[in-house]
Amino acid sequence: MTTHETPLDSVLETIGETPLVRVQASPSEVPVYAKVESFNPGASVKDRIGKYMVEAMLERGELEPGGTVIEPTAGNTGIGFAIAAGQLDVNAVFVVPERFSVEKQQLMDALGAEVINTPTDEGMGGAIDRAHQLADEMENAVVPQQFSNPLNVEAHYETTGPEIFEALDGEVGAVVAGCGTAGTLMGIAEYALERDPDVHVTAVEPEGSVYSETQGEDVEEADYKIEGIGTHDLDTNELFDPSLVDEVLQVSDRHAHDELKRLAAEEGHLVASSSGAASAAARHVAERIRDGEIDAPHDSVVTVFPDSSERYLSKGIYRSFEEWEG
Ligand code: PMP
Repeated sequence: MTTHETPLDSVLETIGETPLVRVQASPSEVPVYAKVESFNPGASVKDRIGKYMVEAMLERGELEPGGTVIEPTAGNTGIGFAIAAGQLDVNAVFVVPERFSVEKQQLMDALGAEVINTPTDEGMGGAIDRAHQLADEMENAVVPQQFSNPLNVEAHYETTGPEIFEALDGEVGAVVAGCGTAGTLMGIAEYALERDPDVHVTAVEPEGSVYSETQGEDVEEADYKIEGIGTHDLDTNELFDPSLVDEVLQVSDRHAHDELKRLAAEEGHLVASSSGAASAAARHVAERIRDGEIDAPHDSVVTVFPDSSERYLSKGIYRSFEEWEG
């Protein structure tokens, strides 16, 4: 891991090289290691794609200096893009449905981005349509589209995956990660399977999300409180490639909430609900490797903690399960 022993030129250089920390509650025979992404400057995994995608679009000429990125996003992706855009002479506009967390919108604003609200009842679809309409009306504006842009996967193939393998000297038995856009899991899995085609890959989603349907399972669609992972419409999640995934595990809101509170109380991790879900699923995979139910090339499991709980305090993340607004 880089220890940043020398002074850095910009905050962009602090993105990535996050610590990989053992989950202490995982079985000693098959430890789980979590990549703790709140160590990034915008406190989430999405700083990686913000930097990677803006730099790549500038290099390819898809975006010119002084141009504008317009992304429909309710959260961490906006913060990640806003940090990168601000440092790379690019303007950032985010189209956000009204109901989404005010904390994140305040951070985007502080980073110099423009936030445009769309009506809550038009959902994310309304925000996506408005982003494209704005891009058509403006000169030199692009919509990066994290849900369909292969650069999202590439960011993790080039950074997160290699960092994990380096930290564990290549001894990775299984990869377990939550899927929102699925960029994180796809990028790590692609890299891992190239290094060793036997690495076991588990996608994690909330109960009520429909990624499991790609495994031929009947899913009872329902709303969930876990934030940042899951989908109700597989057509919008173009990056998810079921052929790279051995299984999709569903985690209930209650289980994710219990685990995120346990991670704080017992292990000192201030992480949010998608981390709780990832940790619960990764521990389950580790136990099955230990018990001989899963064949993995090494006795280790890697997962990702995507962001921090501080961003969700106003939604009562540390209150009782019933009081947590999700
Ligand atoms: N957790 C949180 C809190 C997120 O914001 C996201 C991004 N939607 C994810 C997990 C999932 O990451 P990805 O989009 O790469 O699947």
